[in-house]
Amino acid sequence: MANTITYELDGKLYINMTNRCSNSCNFCVRNGKDEFRGYYLWLDKEPTVNEVIAALGDVATYKEAVFCGFGEPLYRYNDVISVAKYLKEKGIKTRINTNGQALLITGENIVDRIAPYIDTINISLNEVTAEEYNKLCHPVFGEVAYYSLLDFARCCVGKIKRVILSIVDVIGEDKIEKAQKIAQDIGAELRVRKYE
Ligand code: SF4
Repeated sequence: MANTITYELDGKLYINMTNRCSNSCNFCVRNGKDEFRGYYLWLDKEPTVNEVIAALGDVATYKEAVFCGFGEPLYRYNDVISVAKYLKEKGIKTRINTNGQALLITGENIVDRIAPYIDTINISLNEVTAEEYNKLCHPVFGEVAYYSLLDFARCCVGKIKRVILSIVDVIGEDKIEKAQKIAQDIGAELRVRKYE
């Protein structure tokens, strides 16, 4: 289906609000593809808040709603807040999957604004140094993106209930150990996810 705004995976409802992203990761699921697990995620235009809410359907049946999709959700943090507020009013758990560059993307610290409506934030750490992150993710902001991502994670700890830094298992044991230390120092959880 074209222009998929919401899609279901493993009992969770995923929300695709934008195709904008400040990274161009080598491993991005968008590379050369139009769909992810059968859902077409390129948008002809970004949906309005009302269109997103209309696409949510009967949210009560889902264990969690996740802002994710083919892009970086926090480009639209104001709209994410509006939709997340609606979801919280319905008693649904909310999560944002982000590249962690919101401080640079928005030019401000938005953590206090999103925190009341978000239960979990998953920040893609991806690598253990700024140089390696740059090679893998090609951020438009350059190496400062990695340090900003770590700052953003620090800002989230203590304000958002669950703060997760994630890496993909293919980076190897050594780096997984380093990532564990980075997460621990920040006070975040580390999630090692399978490459798909
Ligand atoms: S941050 Fe996410 S959406 Fe953006 S290029 Fe990387 S994997 Fe793709």
